[in-house]
Amino acid sequence: MTIDLYSDTQTRPTPGMREAMARAVVGDEQSNDDPTTLALCERVATMLGQEAGVFMPSGTMCNLAAILVQTRAGDEIIVDDQSHIYNTEAAGAAAIGGVSVAPLATPAGLYSVAAFEAAIRPPARTAPRSALVSIEQTTSFSGGSIWALDDMRRIRDIAHARGLKAHIDGARLLNAVMATGISAADYARGFDSVWIDLSKGLGCPVGAVLCGTNDFVVEAWRWKYRLGGAMRQSGVLAAAGLYALDHHLDQLATDNAHIRLVHGVVADAPGLSFEPTAGQSNILCFSVRGLGVTAADFARACLAHDVRVRAIGGHQIRVTTHLDVSRAQVERAAAVIRAEADRLFEERQSS
Ligand SMILES: *Cc1c(COP(=O)(O)O)cnc(C)c1O
Repeated sequence: MTIDLYSDTQTRPTPGMREAMARAVVGDEQSNDDPTTLALCERVATMLGQEAGVFMPSGTMCNLAAILVQTRAGDEIIVDDQSHIYNTEAAGAAAIGGVSVAPLATPAGLYSVAAFEAAIRPPARTAPRSALVSIEQTTSFSGGSIWALDDMRRIRDIAHARGLKAHIDGARLLNAVMATGISAADYARGFDSVWIDLSKGLGCPVGAVLCGTNDFVVEAWRWKYRLGGAMRQSGVLAAAGLYALDHHLDQLATDNAHIRLVHGVVADAPGLSFEPTAGQSNILCFSVRGLGVTAADFARACLAHDVRVRAIGGHQIRVTTHLDVSRAQVERAAAVIRAEADRLFEERQSS
């Protein structure tokens, strides 16, 4: 059987989760009348220290709704150049909100406070208005690196002082929480919008919860409705989220530990290169440029040994751990990745 480290979206709902879904008490979510969905929103809002939350079908809709509520056409948002918003949301901010994106170059998805400050445009008739900054905690395509709380707070404070809103794309915020012991509420304090994904390491089939002030959530609901995200008996899905928060948080710590294990095995492989932040959560990225092969070649070589990793761009490989891969499988996968790296390196030396 293939060991699937492509993404933590590959998780399947467990029997216990399916049972919780089957038992869910439901109503009509669109009328704000689904008790299980309401319970999930309240639970996540409390966990994130926010006034309210809204259940969304996806993290992508959370980002888009947060952008649409907090910007207007002609505004600009500031993100890192590896961010999900910039790369894999089909330019929703531009297509639907008329908002342009200023991507900051970063080594590991973590731009500096100074780079952010320099990217804020002084008000000018000729310039887009800097309206929103987004921090991805943890970074997805940059190897799961974790933002320092202090940097997040400085960026938040500078944003507010300069009239910008501050947003956290917290798809994997709880992986950071489990890695650092800093609470989700501490990370999210003072931010204007923040969300977590249920369909990544938490193992749910669908869903995310977007949080902020009561006023923010009222406006986010309008966009959810407009975008076609309002649901009916969504309690079946929300029950999976509640189940995950009860049973899968520790799994995120295990996933983080599994990436440290992989990192330990491959870190000194000749020809592979890593960012200094590598191995901080449940994602590991490395470059295979030094092996003289493309990322697609390397991924194919691993798949021949039943280990699926993800090629990102020309030379980056991404490995992600999750609840559907056991420690034994992670150990085997790490050995395969190491062996393939060593083999390709030797081939290159002798050619
Ligand atoms: C997965 C992800 C998203 C989008 O979430 P979906 O639920 O897949 O729509 C946004 N941001 C980050 C950092 C992600 O990893």
